[in-house]
Amino acid sequence: MPIFNKPTFKGDTDRRRDMPEGLWHKCPSCGEVIHELELQQNLRVCPKCGHHFTLNASERLDSVCDSGSFREIDAALESVDALDFQSYREKVEKYQKITGLCDAVVTGHATIARHPAVLAVMDFRFLGASMGSVVGEKITRAIEAATASRSAVIIFSASGGARMHEGILSLMQMAKTSGALALHSQQGLPFISVLTHPTTGGVTASFATLGDVIVAEPGCMIGFAGPRVVKETTHQDLPPGFQTAEFMMKHGLVDMIVERKDMRERLGALLGYMLATPTKKR
Ligand SMILES: [Zn+2]
Repeated sequence: MPIFNKPTFKGDTDRRRDMPEGLWHKCPSCGEVIHELELQQNLRVCPKCGHHFTLNASERLDSVCDSGSFREIDAALESVDALDFQSYREKVEKYQKITGLCDAVVTGHATIARHPAVLAVMDFRFLGASMGSVVGEKITRAIEAATASRSAVIIFSASGGARMHEGILSLMQMAKTSGALALHSQQGLPFISVLTHPTTGGVTASFATLGDVIVAEPGCMIGFAGPRVVKETTHQDLPPGFQTAEFMMKHGLVDMIVERKDMRERLGALLGYMLATPTKKR
């Protein structure tokens, strides 16, 4: 099957030989070379053009939660290799070592601007944050925890889609997470979906686009299939900016585009509109 035999992309590594690895980053949008420290201080946003680099789950939580408020749940859930899929177990172990996570999403309780919420944050480093049974289960449990505590649920999506290594067990997570959100909604409780780069496949086609409010980071890619597949299937030239957050906003899929530096404040304001009184200041 061609999908498993795609050639490995080899970039031009010569230019980077004299650079200590990980210390300098080239902005893929404007080409500016940025020091790691400067990028960290700027929430991993290019200071020249505003390009939003991806955040891992821990950086994301630090950027939006009230300091010290995050309490993780279900941290130790791990996928099993139910289909005995070629090298899946080794891949999971490899990404567990790289990321320090058991799977591709981190969930837990936190406050944002003193409003309680349950958060789920996908981490693209872990197998492209593909949604397998553990990702789906943790997100479902996070939604159920929000319903039980009568608080909002906020999901930060970034995903390559369903995890092919788990076959149908991955696909059923789309229905499971959507069902949990329907029950949450029936209780009159809010769900804010935050789309980050890239949000694609089964994640776009389930919980990510079911938010009462759908927020996106600037320039992020949002779609089901990638642009090449869409172009080849439809035999149409794609319009400029196709599948960007700005394009989706223009066409009604996204409610607001929020820069990373403003995300905490905007989420706090949204929670304030949609929920009862915030918790008391400690
Ligand atoms: Zn830039």
